[in-house]
Amino acid sequence: AGGVDAPVVEETVSTADGVEIEVAANIGGEAELDPAVARGADGIGLFRSEFLFLDRESPPDEAEQYDAITTALAAFPDDRVVVRTLDIGGDKAVPYLDLPEETNPFLGQRGIRLSLGAHSDLFETQLRALLRAAASEHGDDLAVMFPMATQIEEVAAAIERVESVAADLDGEGVDYAMPELGVMIETPAAAFLADSLAERLDFLSIGTNDLTQYVMAVDRENDAVADYHDPLHPAVLRAIDRTVSAADGNDAWVGMCGEMAGDPDLTALLVGLGLDELSMSAVTVPAVKQQVQETATSAARDLADDALACETRAEVLDVLDES
Ligand code: PEP
Ligand code: MG
Repeated sequence: AGGVDAPVVEETVSTADGVEIEVAANIGGEAELDPAVARGADGIGLFRSEFLFLDRESPPDEAEQYDAITTALAAFPDDRVVVRTLDIGGDKAVPYLDLPEETNPFLGQRGIRLSLGAHSDLFETQLRALLRAAASEHGDDLAVMFPMATQIEEVAAAIERVESVAADLDGEGVDYAMPELGVMIETPAAAFLADSLAERLDFLSIGTNDLTQYVMAVDRENDAVADYHDPLHPAVLRAIDRTVSAADGNDAWVGMCGEMAGDPDLTALLVGLGLDELSMSAVTVPAVKQQVQETATSAARDLADDALACETRAEVLDVLDES
């Protein structure tokens, strides 16, 4: 499985029995846009907006962020572009923000916690740029998602901020539109609350890098315990399954944008688990598209059911080997 020489397919692909799966790209810098287009990505499933804030001395202003977002939208004029709001803290330090040192940064002020707390100013500027970009030429497929959520109140507060920014723009007579809104499922709390989250939002996007870290209580950067950081652990698979069911039951779409999504050996499993979109480093897009086309959903569902019934990671690996 998973040929590295898979052909580039520009259009969205379907499974052998006709279920469309979006295969999108993760973007961590403007230079990654052209290669993602060249590899046939169906839009952007994760635009890591924090790259706009790194390696510089002050944050980008609204105009610079608007330019970066509209550039990404223009690269994929007919496809969805999902921009994640600022996800700093944890492994993503930004020196000029002067955040206090933390003993456990991965358990500290990151993502939406900062956007609603110490850096609500940056959040507001970012939301202004995003809502304006949603009204730009290719903006109707813009989607915005919030990282590191653990509480319903956070998501409610984030939605309120979006609405208040919209009201401000309205008052100023500035053109804006409402993008689709979603949340990343990357904490156990979010996975357990996925139902309530999906009820309030248009989509969920599973970040398996962090979700695995937090479900398994394992530092994603610590090589000594790297074995524990495996999304094939049954606990992580069940968290994914729970999230997909919550989205399906609430009319939300569900994607995956962690590393797991880009492993062509896992495409059949992920199709079977019911993901609507897989987003990954552009380099693996052709191989994953090829796997989608070779997968039949009924067999994939059986495979997922078998994997979900496993009690150990070793059993999951056996199930995958036998498939
Ligand atoms: C994830 O956590 O899986 C994810 C996609 O976000 P990041 O790797 O940027 O934390
Ligand atoms: Mg993450």
